[in-house]
Amino acid sequence: MSALPDFSHSPTELIVDLDALADNWRLLRDRAAGGGAFATAVVKADGYGLGIERVGPALHAAGCRTFFTAHLDEAIALRALLPDADVEIGALNGLLGDEAPVYRAHRIMPTLNDLGQIERWAAFCQAVETPLPAGLHIDTGMCRLGLPWQEIDRLAAEPAHLDGFEMRYLMSHLVSADAPSAPINRQQADLFARQTARLPKPTAGRMLANSSGCFLGRDWLFECVRPGVAIYGVAPDTTRPNPMRPVVRLSAKILQIRDVDAPQTVGYGAAYPVARPSRVATVAVGYADGYLRTAGAGPIAEEAVAHIGQREVPVIGRISMDLTTLDVTDAPEATVGTAIDMLGPLNTVDRLASAAGTIGYEILTSLGRRHRRRYVGGDA
Ligand SMILES: *Cc1c(COP(=O)(O)O)cnc(C)c1O
Repeated sequence: MSALPDFSHSPTELIVDLDALADNWRLLRDRAAGGGAFATAVVKADGYGLGIERVGPALHAAGCRTFFTAHLDEAIALRALLPDADVEIGALNGLLGDEAPVYRAHRIMPTLNDLGQIERWAAFCQAVETPLPAGLHIDTGMCRLGLPWQEIDRLAAEPAHLDGFEMRYLMSHLVSADAPSAPINRQQADLFARQTARLPKPTAGRMLANSSGCFLGRDWLFECVRPGVAIYGVAPDTTRPNPMRPVVRLSAKILQIRDVDAPQTVGYGAAYPVARPSRVATVAVGYADGYLRTAGAGPIAEEAVAHIGQREVPVIGRISMDLTTLDVTDAPEATVGTAIDMLGPLNTVDRLASAAGTIGYEILTSLGRRHRRRYVGGDA
C-alpha cells in the first residue's frame, strides 16, 4: 500500500497531450524513413517525467515497436504495459551482474557495454541454448558507457566473443548533436561507420542518432535512430524554430492576490523590491515541483514568465519550495482561482530551461509528482 497522496485536490494541473506526443514520434519516424532508417523511442526516466504508463502505450499506438529505457527495472515496468511479442524493449545501462535470467524472463534486451558483459551474455545464452538478442554499445567519444576502442580492437580480432547470442543493434551515442556545427558530430559519425565495419553486421541495424542527431543529416541516420527528448516536445536544436509540438502544459490556479507597493519586497531574501503599486499573485508551484529555483530572480539574466491566456506575466522574487509569485498588475482579469500557464505553448519547456540556466531535459524530468495529472488525446 502506498502512503503517497494522489494530489487530486491540487490547484495545479500537468496536462500531457498524447496526440502531440504521437505526432512528434511520427515526425521523427518520417525523418528517419527519408534516410532509409527506422525509429525507436527512448522512454527512460518515466517517459522523461511524463508517465511511462501513458507514454508507452501512446507511442505503441503511434506505431513504435522498439523502446529503450536506462534501467532494467524501467524496462520491466514497460514490459508489463506492452506485453506483445512484437514489442522490443531494451535497457541501456548495461548487464551489471548476474541478472541475465531477469532479462530473459521479462524479454528485455540488454545493452552490452564491455567485453565482460558480452562474455556473460554469451555464456548465459549458451547455457539456455537460445541466441537471445542484445545491443552492443561502442564508445565513439562520450567516454561514458560502451566499449572503449581497445575492446573494439579485441572484438574485431576475436569475433567469436559474439557467438551464441543475437547482436541486434550496434550503437553509439553523440556528444554534441544539439550543436550542429560542432566538428565532433562528423568525427563520431565517421568513427562509428569505420568501427562498425570491423564488426559483424547487427541483425536490426546500426544506431547512432538521438533526437538532435536525427536533424544532422543522412550520414547520422544509419539503419535506425534512438530519439528521446524531441518526442516530448523539446527542441532538437534550440537555435532554430522548434519543429516539435509542445506536449506539456502546467496550469496553476492563483491561491491569493495582494496589493503591494514600495518599499515592500516580495519573497525570501527580500530579493524583489517592488517599484510601483503592484498586484502580486501566488501559485502552488515551487522548486519541489520542478519549477527550478534558478528560474527566479537570481543569477540568470533571462526572466521566467507565465501566461494568463495570451498575456505574459513575469515571475518575480525567489521561487520557494512550494510557491511562486507573479506580477499580475497588468492582468486585471487575474483573480483568486484564475489559471496561469506556468508552462505551455507560449512559455515552453525550452524557454523555462533557458531562464533557469539548464536544458529542457532537466525541466521535464523534474516536473514532480504533486501536480494533478491529466492526459488528453490518444485514447485518454
Ligand atoms: C537518453 C539517450 C538517448 C535519447 O537522447 P535524446 O537526446 O533525449 O534524444 C539515446 N541514447 C542514449 C544512449 C541515451 O542515453
